[in-house]
Amino acid sequence: MTDSNFAYFEGKIVAFGDAKISIAAHGLNYGTAAFAGIRGYWDEGLKKMFLFRPVDHYKRFLSAAKILAMDLNHTPESLTQITIDLLKKEQFSTDVYVRPLCYKADPGIGVRLHDLRDEVSIFAIPFGHYGKNEDGAHVTISSWRRIDDNVIPARGKISGAYANSALIKTDAIRAGFDEALVLDHNGHISEGTAMNVFIVRDGELITPPVYENILEGITRKSIIQLAREELGIKVVERSIDRTETFLADELFLTGTAAQVMVVNRVDHRTVGTGKIGPITSALRSLFDDVAHGKVEKYRHWNVEV
Ligand code: PMP
Repeated sequence: MTDSNFAYFEGKIVAFGDAKISIAAHGLNYGTAAFAGIRGYWDEGLKKMFLFRPVDHYKRFLSAAKILAMDLNHTPESLTQITIDLLKKEQFSTDVYVRPLCYKADPGIGVRLHDLRDEVSIFAIPFGHYGKNEDGAHVTISSWRRIDDNVIPARGKISGAYANSALIKTDAIRAGFDEALVLDHNGHISEGTAMNVFIVRDGELITPPVYENILEGITRKSIIQLAREELGIKVVERSIDRTETFLADELFLTGTAAQVMVVNRVDHRTVGTGKIGPITSALRSLFDDVAHGKVEKYRHWNVEV
């Protein structure tokens, strides 16, 4: 069960328990759905909640809907407003995670995208840290491969594609790791199960480009901009080989839930010194400040509820 009291469902905000779909719904049976994950940060001083880059999250959400041939009749701004209305009703006074979902709602047998009703739902839950963040995570390289743009596009958070992430994650956890990196069909590092990946080599920050079967992460985009504009770090978007993760001076993962997750071991090899490195450390604290609305220049990323 969740701690949510309300949900946006079929065009209005309803009691959470009333937001129900049929077991025959297309989205549930075929994975023909897409989702978003947005953080809301509670400011104890101001007694207010701020959403982090909701318009950008909803732009990506609507792009995924477009890939799934959905006609949602929403804009990033209208969805942001609905999220604000929902959170005002919830009255959480803690950090939250918002989960929008768009899905093929009609019940019935017959896999397709066309001639089906599309719906949007949104709910929010209180949310703190996700996964290992303080001491550094131990990751493996998964034996699974990342879905390809010509299989299920990774650039949208398409529900069916997360069976791939789930296979990767569970095998990694059961083998005693905290997380896994996954290779694309060319054998390059694409990302983690729900996080983009960055390595540091010789002072350069390196991350796979958007055409290498990654989700175009909002945290990734924020980190690239902060590294370049605020810290003067050279950022290179290029393929990363498996063994570069062993040889990297620093390695970290980024995502809305995990934020900046330090990785200090890859398949039993220590990354760099085994401790959080200077670039990761600087970016992690700057990102944390920006996400919490402490940096004037980026305050337009923090949308008040
Ligand atoms: N990759 C995948 C596969 C994800 O699910 C996520 C989480 N949304 C990310 C990367 C990170 O994206 P973002 O920073 O926008 O949360």
